[in-house]
Amino acid sequence: MSQLDLVALVCCDLGAIVRGRSLPSPELTASLDSGVGWVPANHALTPLGPLAEVNPFGSTGDLRLRPDAETHVRLEGDAHETALEFVLCDIVETDGRPWECCPRAFLREALAELESELGARVMASFEHEFQLVRDARAELPFSLAAQRAAEPFASTVMAGLQEAGAEPERFMAEFADHQYEIPVAPAAGISCADRSVVVREVVREIARRHGMRASFAPLAEPSAPGNGAHIHFSLLDSSGAPLLYDSARPACLSELAERFAAGILLHAGALCALCAPSPCSALRLAPHHWSAGAVCVGQRNREALLRVPPLLSLAGGEEAPQLRLEYRAADAAANPYLALGALVRAGLDGVRRQLPAPPILELDPSQLDAAEMKRYGVAGLPDSLEGALRALADDEQARAWMSPLLYDAYVDLKRAELEAVAELDVGEVCARYAAVY
Ligand code: GLU
Ligand code: MG
Repeated sequence: MSQLDLVALVCCDLGAIVRGRSLPSPELTASLDSGVGWVPANHALTPLGPLAEVNPFGSTGDLRLRPDAETHVRLEGDAHETALEFVLCDIVETDGRPWECCPRAFLREALAELESELGARVMASFEHEFQLVRDARAELPFSLAAQRAAEPFASTVMAGLQEAGAEPERFMAEFADHQYEIPVAPAAGISCADRSVVVREVVREIARRHGMRASFAPLAEPSAPGNGAHIHFSLLDSSGAPLLYDSARPACLSELAERFAAGILLHAGALCALCAPSPCSALRLAPHHWSAGAVCVGQRNREALLRVPPLLSLAGGEEAPQLRLEYRAADAAANPYLALGALVRAGLDGVRRQLPAPPILELDPSQLDAAEMKRYGVAGLPDSLEGALRALADDEQARAWMSPLLYDAYVDLKRAELEAVAELDVGEVCARYAAVY
């Protein structure tokens, strides 16, 4: 039988699931303006399968998935596999106006605010960890043996990511069983969130072609290390000069960086509802998972919510362009556009309020007693998704980052997920989500 090449027009939904519709590849150019049909209630589909019964959309309405041609990805097939071809889309009204619940529009608005208020642009990269689901015995953490055990997947996925324009930098074995990490180069604005979607889908596809599943789930099992999606970001001015660096200040953070960081700490609870948003996400954030044990800024500190990674002076490296902040609480259950958009809004709020510089913590925050926690201004993160949703509900400002419709849709979706797993124990919740992400 012959085969018709298909291209999928897709969006990343509120639960970070990539969904859409396919058309014959040769028709893509003709469909760039009008896209394909979409339905508001698709945004009420839970990552667990069923539709959230309570949702603000109901059965009415029509939208379009409108492709952004710059995001076109094509991974060639081979004798056994068809090509993977997709284009990321904006979700728009039938007259082309952005839909108020479109995640790309949410990020675009946050970036526009950043640009108009501070003249700043974001460069960012999502650092994805994932686990290969396979029967083989796990090799030791970070070992060459663990890297070799991932062949030929490892080499193929790096080629695939390159082909997809995702600029992969490293392939690393991580700590947990069959856990790997592929950092990719930072990209500007909306492209870095697009890149996060592309990385996940290409990794999943190449794993599938090798007879495996790649799981980006926050925590495959309660006692193991989790899979993070740390967000590394810097701010640049219109000429491309770095704005977060000042060699004369603690941790080389400029005053702008300090205020931006303080805004993220201020809204840390609400941010968890968008950045670590599955019923098992908070478990990953417990102390000593080297994820984000407490709400603080740390230099080279892997238990801090915001980490300042090291600046290399070897090989004549210039420091200023290297300086970035790493938000460590995010995981792959988060929609990357909502996560980054919310971080930008939180940071901007810190700048607007001219918040004081947060102390830079060099210690493991779990070693602090109550008085020291207070002195350093260190707090805990919500210990459940319910807690994160409560923090969001209580944070009037964070709530207003979203339109009322988007807020309702998001909270309804998360409540439906919580209800669906209410009877499961933590191990079962982790397993349920490991099978989805
Ligand atoms: N696996 C850790 C997490 O869940 C991150 C480890 C690291 O790369 O620092 O966030
Ligand atoms: Mg890692």
